[in-house]
Amino acid sequence: DSEIDSSSLLTVLNDLHSQYKSLNEGAVAKYIPELAKVNPDLFSICIATVDGQVHKVGDSEQFFTIQSISKVFAYGLALEDRGRDYMLTRVGVEPTGDAFNAIILDEQSKRPYNPMVNAGAIATTSLIKGSGPTERLNRMLEMFRQYIGHDVFVDMSVFTSERSTGHRNRAMAHLMLNFGMIDPNIEEALDLYFQQCAVLVNCQDLAVMAATLANKGINPITKERAVDKAYIKDILSVMYTCGMYNFAGEWAYKIGIPAKSGICGGIIAVVPNQMGIGVFSPPLDVRGNSVRGVKVCEELSQRLGLHLFECQ
Ligand code: GLU
Repeated sequence: DSEIDSSSLLTVLNDLHSQYKSLNEGAVAKYIPELAKVNPDLFSICIATVDGQVHKVGDSEQFFTIQSISKVFAYGLALEDRGRDYMLTRVGVEPTGDAFNAIILDEQSKRPYNPMVNAGAIATTSLIKGSGPTERLNRMLEMFRQYIGHDVFVDMSVFTSERSTGHRNRAMAHLMLNFGMIDPNIEEALDLYFQQCAVLVNCQDLAVMAATLANKGINPITKERAVDKAYIKDILSVMYTCGMYNFAGEWAYKIGIPAKSGICGGIIAVVPNQMGIGVFSPPLDVRGNSVRGVKVCEELSQRLGLHLFECQ
């Protein structure tokens, strides 16, 4: 919105950062052993506008693994590869109210509920095209590069840590295989899923990725297209209804913008045609959302009037 000028945006970010840096609730995710090592005090808030300005405060250059936030972008790539109708036959778009790692499929259709929960994300990733695992990984990394604007890398320790402990995700893949809902080569799909979760980003990258979605799929800094404009509405709809674990309904009600969080402690939020928001703070609440991240977004939404259904 042109009414929000850049110096007041930076003031708001600085305010929120100093206000919430003393909020010490929540705990960092520990079920992936490598992730438990993160410094819980890291904290950053970044905003990238669709006209290419970046405003940042805190540890905005600190790298961490993207985790579930990757699901949004993998879904976009799978949509481009397979089209909307086919994707709908394999992965639903229904929020669950269950935990992200619930081992559950839709009773009737046997599809995973949506692409933002683990089962749906694994199915989605299994549909990304390529002639073998290396080509599929390279296509995934190239897609992230377009959203972010620089080359991206996989954190090998986090990848191997999750690959050797991710039995729950493996169980979901087997359940889908049992119903013929996923290609038999599930180890390859799981590897690509664990790799996409272990892509390294910083908070500024999150804001630029979100801003690319806000900007109809074009990175506002490099001006490069990252995803077909036709699929922005699909991506933002599932983020809006399913992006914040089983807090998605309350998030939509209170904060009112499409968002996705990950157990790394990152959150992206998209204000269509205006800006992308990235927040990073590792301690999580019981649902798996960054404690400070939720607070910051709630207050940003109120102060800047970002709720999609706000009547101006
Ligand atoms: N790689 C994590 C998993 O599959 C991602 C979970 C998340 O960020 O929600 O369990």
